[in-house]
Amino acid sequence: MSDGYLTVESAMTDGLRALGLDGVDIAAFRVYYDALVFENEHQNLTTITAEPEVASLHFLDSLAILPHIDRNPRPQLSTVNCQLSIVDIGSGAGFPGLPIAIARPDYAVTMLDAREKRVDFLRDTIKQLGITNATATHGRAEEYAAAARESFDIAVSRAVANLRELAELCLPLVKIGGTFLAMKSRGSDAEIAASSNAIATLGGAPAEIVDYTLPDGTPRRIVVVRKIAATPPQYPRRYKKIETQPL
Ligand code: SAM
Repeated sequence: MSDGYLTVESAMTDGLRALGLDGVDIAAFRVYYDALVFENEHQNLTTITAEPEVASLHFLDSLAILPHIDRNPRPQLSTVNCQLSIVDIGSGAGFPGLPIAIARPDYAVTMLDAREKRVDFLRDTIKQLGITNATATHGRAEEYAAAARESFDIAVSRAVANLRELAELCLPLVKIGGTFLAMKSRGSDAEIAASSNAIATLGGAPAEIVDYTLPDGTPRRIVVVRKIAATPPQYPRRYKKIETQPL
């Protein structure tokens, strides 16, 4: 995607079209880009800063999971005004949660991160964007489950932990009938195989692997786990336990 593009606007115009998202507000991604590179001078948010690369590897990469969210059944969405609720675990500078919130005003997106400065950046950027369907929350996923257990239709996460640990951070937050989607690289076969006990223990169905390509041809993978049973109350455990004694 970066080849031949000079600006966020040009890369996003073609990338959004390729993803079937033509109606999305490209000006919002200029606001987001400017905020990101400005704040990146003060805290380490991203190593990728060139306009076309940010557009492709952050914005479009985040948006490319939308069809995989859309094709999953929506639990408990019985009224017209009820928004699909999504939690992005370890959102960092907002990926994938904030591009999703920009593109889909009909989704209510909560971005959770353990680092307060990153959450402050997200809150400021949400304000600058003037969107009302995104919230940034400071906290650790394993502790957030005490307040928000089984309350989201969808949990998403990119580049936070290996799948075995990530399942324990994410699945407790998902409603039965909801879905956990982990963005992973194509080289994640062994990691996925090693997570099957954790996923089953936490109430997930066996992981489905979906391989796809970004508009620029970059190979990507999403691991889709449907929540089919309640997560037993002893999970999630403290992070030290999750890390040292993974399920
Ligand atoms: N998802 C973003 C992305 O793909 O650009 C950020 C990835 S960054 C490598 C990982 C982020 O996860 C960090 O911002 C970190 O603070 C957050 N994180 C790690 N463990 C977490 C936990 N248990 N709960 C909440 N946030 C966590």
